[in-house]
Amino acid sequence: MNSEKLLVTDYGSVTDSFDRDHLWHPYTSTTRPLPVYKVVSAKGCRIRLADGTELIEGMSSWWCAVHGYNHPVLNKALKEQIDRMSHVMFGGLTHDPAIDLGKLLLKILPSQLTHIFYADSGSVAVEVAMKMAVQYQYAKGLASRTDFVTIRSGYHGDTWNAMSVCDPVTGMHSIFGAALPARHFVSQPCSRFGGTWNPEDIEPLKEIIEKHGDEIAALILEPVVQGAGGMWFYHPQYLVEAARLCRERGILVIFDEIATGFGRTGRLFAYEHAGVVPDIMCIGKALTGGYMTMSAVIATDNVADTISDNYPYAFMHGPTFMGNPLACAVAKASVQLLLDSGWQEKVMTIESLLKRELAPAADFPQVADVRVLGAIGVVEMKKPVDMAVIQKRFVEEGVWVRPFGRLVYVMPPFVISQEELSILTSALLNIVQNIDV
Ligand code: PMP
Repeated sequence: MNSEKLLVTDYGSVTDSFDRDHLWHPYTSTTRPLPVYKVVSAKGCRIRLADGTELIEGMSSWWCAVHGYNHPVLNKALKEQIDRMSHVMFGGLTHDPAIDLGKLLLKILPSQLTHIFYADSGSVAVEVAMKMAVQYQYAKGLASRTDFVTIRSGYHGDTWNAMSVCDPVTGMHSIFGAALPARHFVSQPCSRFGGTWNPEDIEPLKEIIEKHGDEIAALILEPVVQGAGGMWFYHPQYLVEAARLCRERGILVIFDEIATGFGRTGRLFAYEHAGVVPDIMCIGKALTGGYMTMSAVIATDNVADTISDNYPYAFMHGPTFMGNPLACAVAKASVQLLLDSGWQEKVMTIESLLKRELAPAADFPQVADVRVLGAIGVVEMKKPVDMAVIQKRFVEEGVWVRPFGRLVYVMPPFVISQEELSILTSALLNIVQNIDV
């Protein structure tokens, strides 16, 4: 650690002058950057800052680090693979890490999903899935089907087509509006997860499909849990109805399980809440346990064969780092570790503790709603929070929570202890009830 380079900012955060002057962080300004905290190491559910402060991890590094940090099993998988080979191109070559990961994924995915396309990140997986849908329709002789329909308050990533299906108002991408392809947006389902299903929720989708069905290649949505677009948990019946409507009109169904996959919602994948299998599924984030960037797009025989048996007789995508052996090796180790870890019991324990300990927030005058599903706890505020101020408060309480807008939420690693989780929830309650009404 070079202590000369450490700065203590107005917010008291331990940061780095080079970082502040030259490094762009997610969704920040270079001239007025939000404070960042310098991390020197992380282990289990603890993040250690440069000044020695230890924070309990409440975010799983944006849904990824389900096993916590610095896990010996994942470290070993990577170290062993690095001594064999870090990378070879996937065009014309293959290797055991890709094959072994594929075999494991097919064991845990629905049997209808059979063809795996490895990609680099969640956003790229969404691009790939959307291209697959358009190429599928083209292969069927339906070249006019190039559009997409999605639900409001969704979030699918920051690349061009992924942005086009994020909520155009709340999805962080509103300023790109005119440059993006215009998609069909329908209201998000209002029926809550665990509440009563209101059949009116499906009407907007029905109307759009009746009117524009012949232009639409696919419906894309996050099943059950809408993440960065609003942390909303909706009724699984929506998926049942939506898939039925789409299939009647030859529209493909894409489920973006990048955030929901690998146990986060209490099921291994969120589609299981509805029992609806999509034509194309995107997974990422927790796929590698947060070790490396990697995603996968998995398609049915129908999608893969239709694309492959028609001009241009190949799916037209192929990233340089496709099937990267290091990422595949750590992903395989991570998925296996998850399956062997008793994840379901862990997630259920987290869910009941979050439900019990976040419940009092519902009575705070600052709070609009409290909701919990699986290992996700959300406190929705009536007004947006001041990120820099509230972040500093969380750090002072010894926890890492990164709110956005009106949402203060936690999604801890599954290995968090009950004691650590209680520290997280009591910090959260303490902080939100002291925000000005
Ligand atoms: N889809 C969903 C549902 C996501 O939550 C995210 C990331 N927050 C993405 C796609 C994009 O993934 P990435 O950041 O890895 O590109």
